[in-house]
Amino acid sequence: ARVVDPAGTDDDRAAEAALRPRRLSEFPGQPRVRDQLGLVLEAARRRGGTPDHVLLSGPPGLGKTTLAMIVAAELERPLRLTSGPAIQHAGDLAAVLSSLDEGEVLFLDEIHRMSRSAEEMLYLAMEDFRVDVIVGKGPGATAIPLELPPFTVVGATTRAGLLPAPLRDRFGFTGHLDYYDTADLVTILHRSARLLGVEADDAGILEIAGRSRGTPRIANRLLRRVRDWAQVHGEGHVDLAAAHAALTLFDVDDAGLDRLDRAVLEALCRRFGGGPVGLSTLAVAVGEEADTVETVAEPYLVREGYIVRTPRGRAAAPRAWTHLGIEPPRSAPL
Ligand code: ATP
Repeated sequence: ARVVDPAGTDDDRAAEAALRPRRLSEFPGQPRVRDQLGLVLEAARRRGGTPDHVLLSGPPGLGKTTLAMIVAAELERPLRLTSGPAIQHAGDLAAVLSSLDEGEVLFLDEIHRMSRSAEEMLYLAMEDFRVDVIVGKGPGATAIPLELPPFTVVGATTRAGLLPAPLRDRFGFTGHLDYYDTADLVTILHRSARLLGVEADDAGILEIAGRSRGTPRIANRLLRRVRDWAQVHGEGHVDLAAAHAALTLFDVDDAGLDRLDRAVLEALCRRFGGGPVGLSTLAVAVGEEADTVETVAEPYLVREGYIVRTPRGRAAAPRAWTHLGIEPPRSAPL
């Protein structure tokens, strides 16, 4: 597992539970989503009703699950958690929906991965608070409508574009989460350090924030590794020296790139003169599967402008040369 993986691992789960902000007022960053969601929830609370259904989209590790939990906490309602992959049949969804209590918040993670039949059942349930339970099979099958108490769906997706329009339209509020800036990550890390019971100074925290790829999950994971280093090799304080030493040990450089990221850049620039080079050739050069290079390293390198995808393959952007500290040849493509 990479220490800069934005997706959560089993190992992260327990540690993360303790670090989640519980209320909107404790949630740093994402000011637009926070303020808009705050308004929607406060209005619902004052009306004494349920708010519109909420869709949260954005890359992994930015706080979608955390916000879903906050929605339930702010509404003082219970939260039911499930996910698209867990709902493969409409019957699975009917079982969940028919057991919801009034006002309950249903969190559907990875909602874009639900089956088509479940999606159709969900539209109806979200709009009319009703599901049709099919009894029997074949020509004798009948649909028995089942009334549901009002509830709120909070859907989360990393791929909002994959949601069919009719489902997307059932969400009255959509919040798009974006990568965090360094100042917000600093706030998050100071809070996490406090909750972990470790002393941390500004320079140490700033160093970790700068290498966290704009992602709180990565920031919290790096903080735990720096804490480990400080407890084993130092006085237990998260400071600049501990951050440097631990992040060097885990191969995360000052731009947040790890060994695989740098291997891709090195191969692209040093072996292929900046490209363009085909994905499979590049993958062979770094000793990885093409799929690993494409799904693990590339998204961040492309997003941050180190490499570009061209019709003839991958090419190094100026930032790649600067990061490696090498002069691009005159023939460099970009
Ligand atoms: P995934 O798509 O992988 O499920 P997610 O977007 O649901 O990810 P979360 O599980 O909510 O992300 O967050 C991951 C970790 O980052 C948690 O430990 C959470 O506490 C922390 N985190 C996320 N956003 C914030 C924030 N704004 N403030 C403090 N901590 C945050």
